[in-house]
Amino acid sequence: MSSSGPRDRSLIERYRKFLPVSDATPVITLAEGSTPLLSAPRLGERLGLNLFLKLEGLNPTGSFKDRGMTLAVSKGLEDGARAVICASTGNTSASAAAYASRAGIRCIVIIPEGKIAAGKLAQAVTHGAQVLSVAGNFDQALDIVRGIVEKYPVQLVNSINPYRLEGQKTGAFEIVDSLGKAPDFLAIPVGNAGNITAYWNGFNEYLNAGECDSVPRMIGFQAAGAAPLVLGRPVKNPETIATAIRIGNPARGDQALAAAGDSRGLIDSVTDEEIISAYKLVASTEGTFCEPASAASLAGVIKKQREGLFNEGDTVVCVLTGHGLKDPDTAIDNGAKVVRVDADFDRVVDTLGL
Ligand SMILES: *Cc1c(COP(=O)(O)O)cnc(C)c1O
Repeated sequence: MSSSGPRDRSLIERYRKFLPVSDATPVITLAEGSTPLLSAPRLGERLGLNLFLKLEGLNPTGSFKDRGMTLAVSKGLEDGARAVICASTGNTSASAAAYASRAGIRCIVIIPEGKIAAGKLAQAVTHGAQVLSVAGNFDQALDIVRGIVEKYPVQLVNSINPYRLEGQKTGAFEIVDSLGKAPDFLAIPVGNAGNITAYWNGFNEYLNAGECDSVPRMIGFQAAGAAPLVLGRPVKNPETIATAIRIGNPARGDQALAAAGDSRGLIDSVTDEEIISAYKLVASTEGTFCEPASAASLAGVIKKQREGLFNEGDTVVCVLTGHGLKDPDTAIDNGAKVVRVDADFDRVVDTLGL
C-alpha cells in the first residue's frame, strides 16, 4: 500500500515502532488518536499560563480509552481470543464494545449498578455488548471479571491488561509531536491510575528515543471523595460526581505515585464543587465540553495556581479525558435553567431582556 490512505490514521500504524506489534498483529482500528492539542488562551491568560487542552473526547468513542483498546483488542485477536470482557465505570465498556464489534468478536461488560453515565451505557448496548449490572461497586465488579478470565478463554481488557497502557502512552507522544517539546507540566485526572502511568512511560520513552529533551512534571488529581492516593489508604465507598474516577483502590496506584515522585510532580484531590466549576468554566470560556472527571485536571491546575506551584508562562497541558456528551444528566443538572415562555414575539423579547 502507498503511504497515504485510511490505514495511516490508525494509532498502531503511526507509532508502530514504539508498540509491541508485529506484521502478524491484525490491526483493529477506528482511526483513534491524533486528537487536537487546543490552546486555551482565555483561560491561560487568566491563570498566567501557556495552557493547552488535549481533547481526548474527540477519540472515536469519545474518550482516551480507545488508545489502549485498539492495542488490547488487536493483541487479543492475535492471541486467538474470540471474546473480551471488562469491568467498567463506563468509558472502557463503550470502547471495548466498539472495538469488539469492529473485530467481530463477543464483548461482555460488567458494570457497577446505577453508577454509569447515560451516554456510555448507550454506546455499550448499541454496539452489541452483553451488559451485566452487578449490585456492588467497581472494585467488586473487577474481582468477578478477574475470576472469569482465570477460568474461561476470554480476554481481559481492563487497564490491568498491559497493552492498554502501551496504547495510552501515545497520548504523550502526540503532545510532544504537537508542541515540538515536552510541556512543563502535565495535569491529568486519576482513577485507576493507568493513564497517568501510561503518559509517564510515554514521555520517558520519547526522551530515551531522542524525541524530546525533557519530561514534564506529572500532576494528577483525584476527586476528594475518591482519593486513596492522597489519603494513603483505599476508600471503601468512593463517592464523586465524576463517575469515571470513582475508584477506591486504584490498580496502578503505586505506579502513579512513582510517576508523580520521579517527575517532581504530585497527586492531589479536588472537590466535586471545584470539578463542576472547572467543567463549566472550560465549556463557557473555551467552547470545550468535557465530562466531569476530565475537568478534575483543570480544577487541579486552578487549585495549584492559587497555591503558587507554577511560574508565569509555564506550558501546562490538561488532559481532557472524555467528551461532555457522555454524561448529559450532569450537564443538564448543573447548567443554566431552560426558561419556558409562550410562543409570542413580545414575550420572548421581554424575557430575554433585549
Ligand atoms: C478512565 C477515565 C479516567 C481515569 O483514568 P485512569 O486510567 O483510570 O486513571 C478519567 N477520565 C475519564 C473520562 C475516563 O474515562
